[in-house]
Amino acid sequence: MLGPVILAASRSDKMRRFVSAAPGTKQVVARFIAGETVEQVVPVVKEAVAKGLEVTLDVVGEDITTREQAAAARDAYLELIEQLAGLGLGTKAEMSVKLSMFGQSLEGGHELALANVRPVVEAAAAIGTTVTLDAEDHTTLDSMFAIHEELRKDFPQTGCVIQAYLFRTEDDARRLSEAGSRVRIVKGAYKEPASVAHQDKAEIDKAFVRVLKILMEGDGYPMIGSHDPRLIAITQELARSAGRKLDDYEFQMLYGIRGDEHVRLAAEGHRMRVYTAYGTDWYGYFMRRLAEKPANLLFFLRSMITK
Ligand code: FAD
Repeated sequence: MLGPVILAASRSDKMRRFVSAAPGTKQVVARFIAGETVEQVVPVVKEAVAKGLEVTLDVVGEDITTREQAAAARDAYLELIEQLAGLGLGTKAEMSVKLSMFGQSLEGGHELALANVRPVVEAAAAIGTTVTLDAEDHTTLDSMFAIHEELRKDFPQTGCVIQAYLFRTEDDARRLSEAGSRVRIVKGAYKEPASVAHQDKAEIDKAFVRVLKILMEGDGYPMIGSHDPRLIAITQELARSAGRKLDDYEFQMLYGIRGDEHVRLAAEGHRMRVYTAYGTDWYGYFMRRLAEKPANLLFFLRSMITK
């Protein structure tokens, strides 16, 4: 019951101000956010790679309101890519981007987001890596998929995300299951109405397995973004029965969540990519992590009281 309330709060400016100023917030945020600056995140990337992990880097931020902020988001990614260039990590360090941060919801936003994200995808390709377009709320997805298709004409390795809770996703998975495509499947983290999305956890899990099956039996490269032990076991089974080798798909998990599992799966020979978020505009990202697990909220509230 708490999840939807926290997700509603994730869009409130009043709550943003309250949470940002609360005592103890920084300490809890640090569990999920790897740093505030590119200089702070680079050592985190090196440490992950040294442990046999890979990363996808997210400069946190979304729902910006001016074209200047959209340009600043583009520049933040370009700065990150410049820093990664010297490390020679190739696809071990890729980028994840939210198109709302690149101006998608502003007037003329579709074209603006495409114009801002293209140089990021180009710069990533120039250092031998790639970009995945995150999935945000359902109203943004037609634009996201169109931008994905456009970018893939020049950069076929550009990835995208599909969300198991949406009714549309099985069709999207079939469309995206072609050779060369890279698709991350996740349960879905936004507050969506019953007209477009499953609301029941068990139904979402069943939908996840149906989509996973389509991806595994297809010709693309599936990226499984989940911490759910049951879905991880099912992924391994479906991959085996589809005749996929360990490097024909990958697991992805979030920085700060089930860290032991990251290392365990990598040690078993799986490709394990850690979604590593950093930056100062962490509010929306942080609130979605609280919504996923109410125990995180209790921990957060306790840290406010004990400060
Ligand atoms: P759950 O059933 O929620 O969790 C399974 C177990 O994992 C829990 O019991 C708990 O032990 C642990 N766990 C899960 N979440 C947390 C948490 N926040 N704190 C502590 N423990 C937790 N969603 C989108 O809508 N768009 C995206 O682009 C997107 N990208 C993602 C990228 C990656 C790499 C990952 C892993 C997730 C992404 N998500 C995205 C979020 C996703 O939709 C889910 O909200 C999130 O992964 C929780 O679902 P789960 O599959 O881990 O299963």
